Order: sequence, then structure tokens, then C-alpha cells
Amino acid sequence: MKIFNTLTREKDEFKPIKEGEVKIYACGPTVYNYIHIGNARPLCVFDVLRRYLEWQGYKVTFVQNFTDIDDKLIKKANEEGLTVPEIAERYIKEFWTDAKGLNVREATVHPRATENIKEIQDIISALMEKGYAYESGGDVYYRAKKFEDYGKLSHQPLEDLEAGARIGVAEIKEDPMDFCLWKGAKPGEPYWESPWGNGRPGWHIECSAMACRYLGKTIDIHCGGLDLIFPHHENEIAQSECCNGVPFAKYWMHNGFLNIDNRKMSKSLGNFFTVREISEKYDLQVLRFFMLSAHYRSPLNFSADLMAAAKNGLDRILTAAERLHDLADAAEGSMTDAEKENFAASKEYVEKFEAAMEDDANTADAVSAVFELVKFINVNSSEQNSKEYLQALYQRLETLCDVLGIIIEKKEEILDSDIEALIAERQAARKEKNFARADEIRDMLLEQGIILEDTREGVKWKRA
Ligand code: AMP
Ligand code: ZN
Repeated sequence: MKIFNTLTREKDEFKPIKEGEVKIYACGPTVYNYIHIGNARPLCVFDVLRRYLEWQGYKVTFVQNFTDIDDKLIKKANEEGLTVPEIAERYIKEFWTDAKGLNVREATVHPRATENIKEIQDIISALMEKGYAYESGGDVYYRAKKFEDYGKLSHQPLEDLEAGARIGVAEIKEDPMDFCLWKGAKPGEPYWESPWGNGRPGWHIECSAMACRYLGKTIDIHCGGLDLIFPHHENEIAQSECCNGVPFAKYWMHNGFLNIDNRKMSKSLGNFFTVREISEKYDLQVLRFFMLSAHYRSPLNFSADLMAAAKNGLDRILTAAERLHDLADAAEGSMTDAEKENFAASKEYVEKFEAAMEDDANTADAVSAVFELVKFINVNSSEQNSKEYLQALYQRLETLCDVLGIIIEKKEEILDSDIEALIAERQAARKEKNFARADEIRDMLLEQGIILEDTREGVKWKRA
């Protein structure tokens, strides 16, 4: 597989550190709010990367952190009269609702910054010992310019980076390029004790600590959005490589922006839609499919027209799958020689799919290969075919869709009578004060898209 590596600015041949295994670290969300659909882009595209590598037989360890302490969380907690952990807990839960809707798989580990304070402090201590970090005004900073490879990921002269870093320059830093490793606590803020006084970690250091703890000193692939290259990933490299004395990540992959009217969708610009808002208008599979319709590095403009096109495209695949499924259900027997030949011919589209993914995870071309397979299926399947042949074609389509994280299996509709029976069981459970069972039934129904409402006239339900 070839991967465009931000570090080399080339499409490099992918060779994992350990044969047959891949270690991936993906920077995760700061959990102070609902995620927007720009945040959903890296979630979807790197989920496909992981699924593809697994399909190719690799054992993938995928780590994605939750940033659960920072200024935004503290502000939100103060606004709502809650604690920072309460805010984090709430938005991690909301994150899961969105991620599940997008069919993004859970990472192997989802470490949180606040659960890695010791690891973070150990790195800072090591950086202090080596003379790369210094205390000032209750904070600890990293001497960016002392790290001679600083800027190697951004490919920009230090002066240009410096011009950007000057914004918000703090007097207490020795140099504007220096960045914070440990932030002294202000009154009323959450803090941890440390050799440098009470405080909390800076943002960049948590990723260096968690990548090392869960994946080792050198990892295969580090990914995230384009906006993280500088300063976040540049700083991660400086911290980790200085501390460990070995390269931090072999391949750096960065997704392009999801834009609205050609401007990056972001919370600060206010031009965003949350995944939750979109889920009220579309099945989130449509959003996922829309993300995959472009190459991950290209900018992608969000519009109602493009979402409608994504919905049409996805429907074409789902309709073909459903038809094939129904045909197979009604059919009998094993493959004829002619069918065997036909089935072998359909492999061409699997090869096209693989070739696209091998070329820097080009999901746009991979999706085209799926469309070609769908066309082939529509032309080459009918009531005349054997069950074995129809099932084999279905599995072929399902395999490719699985890699893209698109679910083609039709959900069995739950019948009204089953819903009524479950509601009656829930009422009985409540009467017996068995609230655990009552909640379990409500959640089970919710999973099937059935929403319960307790009213004065009794329980009402509707399909979402
Ligand atoms: P944040 O919570 O802002 O740190 O973002 C979480 C992830 O979403 C990071 O990998 C960002 O690079 C990515 N991201 C944020 N906004 C966008 C966008 N408009 N398009 C694509 N990726 C984005
Ligand atoms: Zn990070």
C-alpha cells in the first residue's frame, strides 16, 4: 500500500515496523460539546483505513484519545454549574451516539488525558532533565528551537512558523515558539499536584504520553486533520523524539477539511452542523458515504445537493443488495459452470477496489468500483440463478461495503405487536420496581428506532 506521508511529502510504500501488525494513533475530540460533521470526517476516513488494513490481514491496534481537560471544558463546566468530569462524561456519551450512528468502530483503546497524568509528568520530567523544558510563572514550557528537527512535519521555515506562533505570545516564555507542557492552576480550576506546582497538562503532551503508553516509542501511522500538523503534531514530535531518542511515527496522514462555501467548517467560525443535527434529516450512513465519496486529502464542500447525490448512490447499492438477498432467499441449488465463470468475472471489481485503496486509501475510486460491481450484479442476477451463486455475489458486495463501513443488511422491521408486548413488559417491570429491566427494554426499543414517551394517558410510542 502507498500512503501519502506528510513527513516526506511523498507517497511512501507502507511497511509496518513489525510484520503483520499496525499501530495507529488518531487524535481524538475535546469532549466539551457535540461533534460537528467536520470532526466526523477523520473519524470516518481513518475508520476505513483501519478496516482496510484488517481486511488485508494486519492486526491493527488503534488508539484514539479523549481530551477531557482543557480551557473549553473548564469554561463549559462553569457555565453549566457542573464539574469538568461531569461535562466530559456527558459528551463522551454523546460522542458514542454519533460514532455508532456513523458506524465508526470503537478503537482498541480510548485513553483519556486525565487518566495519564503520571505518564505526562514523567515525560515533562525527562524533558526538564535534558534541558528542553523550563519553568516560568507557574507553567512549564518546551524550548522548541532547541529541538533541531522542529518544523520537519510542517515543511515551513522556522520564521514562517514563528510568525504564526507570535499571536498570543506570552511574556513568560523565553521565545514565542515555546509551547506549554504544564499549566499552573488558576484559583477555582481543577488541578493535579506536580513537581512544578499544582496544575494540568498542556494539550500536546497528552498525545505523546498516550501514544507511548499504549503503542510504544515508535508507531506506524499517526493521523488527524490538516489543522493539527502545526503546532499540535509538530510539538508531539518534538516532545516524543527528544524524550525517547527514536522517531515518533513512520507515517503521518492528514485529512483535508470539510468546508462550507469553501471555508473550513469550525466551531469558532460558527459555520457548522453537528452530526446530531444532520441525523435528524438523513440516515448517518448517508453522511458516512458522502465523506467517502472524496479522497481523504481533498477538500470537501458540504451541500444539500452533494448529500442528495450521496443518498442516491447509497440507495443504488442498498437496492441491489436487497434484491440480491430476496432472489437468494427464493432460489435453490449450487452454481452452474456458467455461473462460476460469471462469479469469477466479478472479481475484477474487487481488484479495482483494492487497487484504489492501495493507492493512498482512495475511497472515491473504491466507491466507483463498488458501483461497477452493483451494475454487474444487476445485469447478471435473476430468478434463473442458483442460491449458491446469488449468495456468493451478495457476500462479495458485503465484503467491500464492510471495508467502507457501509451496512447493506436490511434491518428487520420490528412489528407493532412486538412493541406493544415489550411496552407491557416494561410497565409490569416498573410496577415491581425492577427499573433496571424497564430501562433495558426502553434502550432495546430505542436501538430499533422506537421512542417511548410516558404521558398521562399512558405510554405512547413512535418510530424515529
Ligand atoms: P478538534 O475537536 O477541533 O480538535 O477536532 C477533532 C478532529 O477533527 C481533528 O482531527 C481535526 O483536525 C478534525 N477537524 C476539525 N474540523 C474539521 C473540518 N472542518 N474538516 C475536517 N476535519 C476537521
Ligand atoms: Zn494529538
